[in-house]
Amino acid sequence: MISVTPKNDRKQALRIRRFFIGAASYVMWFILILYCHHLGFLRLSFKWALLGCGIAAGINVILYLIFRTGLNKKFNDPSLTFLQMALAALAAMVGIYYTDNIRGIMLVAYIVTILFGVFRFSIIQYLIFTIFSITCYGTVILLLLNNHPETITLQIEVLQLVVFATVMTWFSMVGSYMRTIRKKLSSTNYRLNNALSTIRELAIHDDLTQAYNRRQMFEELKREKTKADRIGDIFSIALFDIDHFKKVNDTYGHLKGDDVLKYLIHSIRHEIREIDSISRYGGEEFIIIMSGTDTKGAEEGAYRIKNNIENLKFPGFSDSFRMTISTGIATYQPVESIDDLIARSDSAMYKAKSMGRNQVVAENTK
Ligand code: GH3
Ligand code: MG
Ligand code: MG
Repeated sequence: MISVTPKNDRKQALRIRRFFIGAASYVMWFILILYCHHLGFLRLSFKWALLGCGIAAGINVILYLIFRTGLNKKFNDPSLTFLQMALAALAAMVGIYYTDNIRGIMLVAYIVTILFGVFRFSIIQYLIFTIFSITCYGTVILLLLNNHPETITLQIEVLQLVVFATVMTWFSMVGSYMRTIRKKLSSTNYRLNNALSTIRELAIHDDLTQAYNRRQMFEELKREKTKADRIGDIFSIALFDIDHFKKVNDTYGHLKGDDVLKYLIHSIRHEIREIDSISRYGGEEFIIIMSGTDTKGAEEGAYRIKNNIENLKFPGFSDSFRMTISTGIATYQPVESIDDLIARSDSAMYKAKSMGRNQVVAENTK
């Protein structure tokens, strides 16, 4: 079914909602004009007044179609703010031309059109619109002076024009000031959002290795456990500890040890699947959570990682420098606790150590 606003284009939907606000102002304007006619203030027959309203409504339908078909995107300002305001100004001026003694009051209604540009126009655009409006009103007065001089008291009209020009200029200045505030606000918002996402990243990652930190690891495990308990998904974890890491620190110093840790985890992070995660469990022990993976799949993955690590060359170290890891695997068994799951993988990892290190051991019984 065709919807009034596009469902998957937020900006376009916003523009169309804004257009509807404008269209609603037209309806108010029509009512006002017809009411003027009813009171006898309109120099037009009902038929012509209705026709005028009909033409304005038709223009609005065309505007709506321009928005709904996306034609508006071809313009410099896809919101068509200026066009909508200029059309509204013209419609208002036609109405004002045909209202005799109450032009002053009708001008107040005209101010509504300029509110449409609030937050959007720069001072220059506002001033252009103001000049356009004043010219329109001046034209109305000139036309009246020519066609219906009996309806014009020149002094009052000039005064009205001056007040009108002053109010419009005032609106231009306040409006563009509002736009500046709006711009500042949205740029502050943007920076705040960026800062927030940086903080969020910092809060869940380990500084040195960029793996998830312990807290985030438990969050991920909780999520996997909930999925497994509720809908029967499976998942496995691979806990690994770097072999003889103390020796690296002792031989090359702690900072070089940091480099090794960083590089090793960096290479694993690029190796695991998108849906898997690696977290720093503590010191040089890490846990890889393998989503939707049974013991066999986890073993295969862990072997692949183990093999890659034993062949990995570390920048800044001799060509023969190598590291290995010992891995313990445990597949989640409903509805065991996360601590139990980790304990099982930990004991598997210790088995791998006792088997001479650089091994993968799967532990599946409690
Ligand atoms: P194995 O696990 O094979 O039994 O031997 P290991 O030498 O790795 O033994 P252990 O687990 O006892 O030692 C781990 C060492 O890792 C001790 C600790 O100082 C070091 N370590 C832990 N975290 C860091 C770190 O962030 N940076 C550096 N440079 N060293 C760390
Ligand atoms: Mg170790
Ligand atoms: Mg250790």
